[in-house]
Amino acid sequence: MSDRLLFSVAGARGIVGRTIDPDVVVRLCAAFSAAMPEGRVVLGRDTRPSGEAFARAAAAALLACGRDVIDLGVATTPTTEMATERHGAAAGVIVTASHNPAEWNALKFLDGRGIFIDPDTGARVLEHYERGTFHWADGRGYGRRVEDPGASRAHIDAILALEALDVEAIRRRRFRVVLDCINGAGSVIAPELLRELGAEVVELHCEPSGDFVRDPEPRAEHLGELAERVRAEGADVGFAADPDADRLALVDETGRAISEEYTLALAVDGVLERTSGPVVVNLSTASLVEHVARRHGVSVERTPVGEAHVVARMLETGAVIGGEGNGGVIYPALHPGRDAPLGMALILQILASSGQALSERIAAYPPFHMTKAKRALAGPFDTEAIASEVTGLGADSVDTRDGVRATFGDAWIHLRVSNTEGVVRVIAEAPDAEGTRRLEALAARALDRVWANS
Ligand code: MG
Repeated sequence: MSDRLLFSVAGARGIVGRTIDPDVVVRLCAAFSAAMPEGRVVLGRDTRPSGEAFARAAAAALLACGRDVIDLGVATTPTTEMATERHGAAAGVIVTASHNPAEWNALKFLDGRGIFIDPDTGARVLEHYERGTFHWADGRGYGRRVEDPGASRAHIDAILALEALDVEAIRRRRFRVVLDCINGAGSVIAPELLRELGAEVVELHCEPSGDFVRDPEPRAEHLGELAERVRAEGADVGFAADPDADRLALVDETGRAISEEYTLALAVDGVLERTSGPVVVNLSTASLVEHVARRHGVSVERTPVGEAHVVARMLETGAVIGGEGNGGVIYPALHPGRDAPLGMALILQILASSGQALSERIAAYPPFHMTKAKRALAGPFDTEAIASEVTGLGADSVDTRDGVRATFGDAWIHLRVSNTEGVVRVIAEAPDAEGTRRLEALAARALDRVWANS
């Protein structure tokens, strides 16, 4: 647990009551306002217990900086992004700590396109925050707050209008779906979307109460209850979102929680069946996406980890689909940001168009094994030295744009430092578990040798 407020490119997060509180929220929002062009700001939040107070503090700060605020109340991260764009606002603020537990909260900052602010803008926000250079309005200059209760509806309508979806074909299948929104922001949109796609929805934790009943990160190992319920209900699929519903994980119809890496691979597969174009994913995404793209005759480009990197490159290359292997599907025809409700619709589309069960679809893919481990930092993360060690240990190629990513035949390993946690993240993929064990041992050897020499 961190004892300071943690800044990222497009926001800041902290532990409620320790490193982030309404006072910090007010100053962060005033700093953000000072860094952004004139205009209205869209505000949304997830359901965690500190959310309402923090959103009110954020609104108060923005109003006091002379901004009009369009308050969405509880809304998913992609809903807030899309509303920012739709309203022609100057900026957006999302109060959410995403997949972090309820003890945490955070602000994420959007530009007028509804996309996370770029590093230069983020640096300006931080500068205003640290110097306290805020632009408080005088008594006549305060903004007005209005509510937009229709943001989720607009999001649903935009998904249903996508050319990538054959809504009638999906409705005909009358899918039985178990939905786990972890009582987060997805609760206010996903059940309705799925019903409008003709699904019979069994709601599991779909009250927007902020009671996070499981580990909020949507990963296979956290979906035991959903898997059991899918089996009990004889459902076609189980969907699990994180608290702000930008990440999605799946349970197949046999009640097996499958790796969250399948979410993006399936979405890419489905979209490339109907359209063609480049795909962009981050360096930590499973190579299954490359297999899928190859089958459709298109290329995959990889970027450093982080939605901002992926989105920026997607826009530059005109990518038709992309995202992050952690369950983050980005489909720019809707909006360039990760979107779990969209992901649910795309998965149902694949099941409808193929007539396959989810487990059958998965079985047609080559098997892979992936591990995501952490190792305590026992010295500096010296990218060049680590890259040189793994090269010496037989890597075919090494990418140092974001830590060290090295390929070994059909396997790869990605070492990234997390300074906020004092650990090295070690992500490994190989065709089988023995392969990932070998890669992890190799990574340990490389790190030990670098640290022994430091
Ligand atoms: Mg999230």
